Formats: sequence, structure tokens, C-alpha cells
Amino acid sequence: MEWFAWFLHKYVMHGPLWILHEDHHTPRPHRKWQLNDFFAFFFAVPSFLFILFDHLYSMPLLGAVGYGIMAYGAAYFFVHEVLIHRRLKFMTGVNHWYFEALNRAHKIHHSRKTKEGTENFGMLWVPMNYFRASLKKFNRAGLNIKNQDRTLKLKKTR
Ligand SMILES: [Zn+2]
Ligand SMILES: [Zn+2]
Repeated sequence: MEWFAWFLHKYVMHGPLWILHEDHHTPRPHRKWQLNDFFAFFFAVPSFLFILFDHLYSMPLLGAVGYGIMAYGAAYFFVHEVLIHRRLKFMTGVNHWYFEALNRAHKIHHSRKTKEGTENFGMLWVPMNYFRASLKKFNRAGLNIKNQDRTLKLKKTR
């Protein structure tokens, strides 16, 4: 699904269907919905139909694909809409190197407002250098906390 979503984003949304995706790159803050939100149907409709066909004609493979698309849709909602774009204000305390890397890579993707010339089309998987940079930052922060603890303890024992 991640590969399929990457492909769709790179070659369809930044291709023939740029008309629908454009307002996600140039958001109008006073508007709650974007034309880009229509892409939810691109996933929801086949997912629903596959699950329905499985129930009616017992086609477990098709059903599995349907549930897979549904699970990816849920991940997309929490990661892309909530954690990255903060369109809904919850899960605000999430602080993890994995999400930090996804967020940075996606913000770089958004730094271009045009159809061409941008990078990082993935959502749950981004180029390794983002993960490396994020891990480094979190490790450094972790060390700083440990050092602070040590100095605090030193102060107390004095
Ligand atoms: Zn895009
Ligand atoms: Zn986005």
C-alpha cells in the first residue's frame, strides 16, 4: 500500500490529477476541506466494495485487500492529517524519532507549491537520511537529559 500510495502521489496527484492535489500544496486556511480530500474516495470506494464482495461471494483474498486499504487509510488519517498537518487537535504530545522523520520529509515535500520539482512522495516511509538525522537528534536529546540528571544529582549530594 505504501508503494501504491507513493506511486499515486508521484505520478497521478503530481500528474494528471494535480487539479485535485494543488490546494493541498497551497492551502487556504479559512477553508476546512480541500479538493485533495476527494482522494479519500479513491481508497474508500474500492476498499468498501472489496469487503462487500468478500461478504457476499466469500472472496477472502479480495476481502484482505479491502481491509489492507482500510488499515492504510486509517494510518494515513492519523499520520498525515493529524500528526503532520494538525488538521485535528489531538495526539499533540507525540514525540518520536519515526514521526519526526516523516514530518520533516513531508514538510520538504510541501516546501514546493508546484506540480513539478518536489521530493519525498512517501508517507510511512521516507529516505533514510531523514531517519538518521532524526535518530541522531533524539539520541542527543536523550544524552542531554541524562547529563542534566547527573548534574542535578551532583548538586543534591553536595
Ligand atoms: Zn504532493
Ligand atoms: Zn501533506
